[in-house]
Amino acid sequence: CGIIGFAGRRDCAQLLLSGLCALEYRGYDSAGIAVQSQGDLQVRKSTGRLKNLQDIVSRAPVSGSVGIGHTRWATHGRPSEENCHPHIGQKGRIAVVHNGIIENYAALKRSLMERGVQFSSQTDTEVIAQLLEYYYETDLLTTLGKVLPMLEGSYALGILDVSDPDTVWCARRGSPLIVGKGEGENYLASDISAVLEYTRDIYILDDGEIAALSAGEIRFYGPQGQALEKEPTPISWSA
Ligand code: GLU
Repeated sequence: CGIIGFAGRRDCAQLLLSGLCALEYRGYDSAGIAVQSQGDLQVRKSTGRLKNLQDIVSRAPVSGSVGIGHTRWATHGRPSEENCHPHIGQKGRIAVVHNGIIENYAALKRSLMERGVQFSSQTDTEVIAQLLEYYYETDLLTTLGKVLPMLEGSYALGILDVSDPDTVWCARRGSPLIVGKGEGENYLASDISAVLEYTRDIYILDDGEIAALSAGEIRFYGPQGQALEKEPTPISWSA
């Protein structure tokens, strides 16, 4: 239901959690975060209130300056810890948060399972993480070019790739997603309100677009992976 993402040079767990708080008004049944941490993905999840997730993170802190977070409004798979986002592929190399619905997930899941991929949730979303790992080739941009056309339905995605630890990726079709440009750090979110505390330099992603955010750079791509120039949308300070 809500997505937040960050790429910068400071620990981002608290920023991810406060971004999720800003998205709380949209409603949710569970929440989770993942951060890149020295060649690994650290994941924390909880059903129920964001307070539960905050408590888990204070008891078992995560450390890393590139990450994603999600508040879930379950559509496929009951609200439970294994169905919380972020979803991680079986190799532990890709993490995905997703807003929307993948209409053909059951067929995609069946064909991956026939090829030996093991699923750990009942969600439509997990199929995206598993597809990205299964078809991974060269880099995430190339892989997205192969996998996104397989998906039917709607998505806003935040993605971490262990092979590219300084970058947070995002893509959308049919569900909203924005990118915010900061000073030496950049943000992504499903809703401007989650990043207004940090920046008014907002880029609105169009359907089919992909963006890659690192601390110092934002790159935009079209559906075929071609580089795009985008102009920020002016947001007034009274917004
Ligand atoms: N369809 C996904 C799920 O049920 C995402 C729901 C959402 O947008 O929060 O896990």
